[in-house]
Amino acid sequence: MTELLRTHGLTRHFKVGGTFSGKRLHAVDDVDLTIEEREIIALVGESGSGKSTIARLLARVYAPTAGEIIYRGRPLAKLRRRKDLLSYRGDVPMVFQDPFSSLNPAYRVSHGIMRGLILHRPDLNAAARQAEAVRVVEAVGLHPAAEILERYPYQLSGGQRQRVGFAQALAYRPKLIIADEPVSMLDVSIRIGLLNLMAALREDEGVSILYITHDIASARYLSDRIAVMYGGHIVETGPTEDVLADPKHPYTQLLLSAVP
Ligand code: ADP
Ligand code: MG
Repeated sequence: MTELLRTHGLTRHFKVGGTFSGKRLHAVDDVDLTIEEREIIALVGESGSGKSTIARLLARVYAPTAGEIIYRGRPLAKLRRRKDLLSYRGDVPMVFQDPFSSLNPAYRVSHGIMRGLILHRPDLNAAARQAEAVRVVEAVGLHPAAEILERYPYQLSGGQRQRVGFAQALAYRPKLIIADEPVSMLDVSIRIGLLNLMAALREDEGVSILYITHDIASARYLSDRIAVMYGGHIVETGPTEDVLADPKHPYTQLLLSAVP
C-alpha cells in the first residue's frame, strides 16, 4: 500500500458564544488519519462529531488551528503558490450531501464539468475536453451522455444529480474524492446504486474515497477501513471487518447496537 495523505495532530477550533466570550469549540482535535492510494475509508460518527470539519480541512477550504496535512509526502502548509494549491484542489475534490450544493441551478450539466476541465486540465484542447466530458458522464453511469450534458439540474433526479457531482469531481482527474454524506439525502432505494458507483470509481479510475457517513451499515458495505469519530476525536480505526466484529470503544459499540 502506498500512502496518499496523512494528517498529524489535525486540530480545528471555532470561537463560540460571541467574539469576546473567549470560548472555543474543539470541532476536530488531534486527529491522526492516513489514507492510502486506491482505498475507501469510511469516517463514521454522529452529527456534530467533526466529520465535515475534517472534510473541509482536507479540501483546504480552511486551514487547521494546529497540526498538519501531508499529501504525497509534502506538508500542505508549504503549498503557497497559487498553482500548487489549484493542483491540490484538483487532486482532492469534494462531493456534498445536498446534490444541489455542487451544481449551479442556472447552468447545464456540461457547464460545471467544462469549468473543471478548463481549470484543472489545461493540457486538453476543446475537442479533447468535449470527449472527456462525455467520458466522465458515462463513468458515473449516466446515459446517453450527450443528452445528460444538456440538462439543467432540475431536470435530473436526486440520484442523477449526485452522479453529476461525482462526474464533476472526475473531470479534475482526482486522487482522493471526499464524499461528505453523499447518499444521506437520497431515497433508500437509490442509495445502493451510489455506493456501487463509488466502489466502481475506485476500481476503474483508481481513486481513493473518504466516505463520510453516520450510517454504519453503508460503511460496512463499502469501506476497506473505518475511522470512528466522537467529539472531535478519532476514537477507533482499523480494517472495517475487524472494527465492526470487535469494537473496542464504547461509542462504536453503541453505534453497532443501534443497527437492526
Ligand atoms: P459533523 O459533520 O460530524 O456533523 P461538523 O464538523 O459539521 O460535524 O461540526 C462539528 C462541530 O463544530 C459542531 O459542534 C459544529 O456546530 C461546529 N462547527 C462546525 N463548523 C463551524 C463553524 N464554521 N463555526 C463554528 N462552529 C462550527
Ligand atoms: Mg457533516
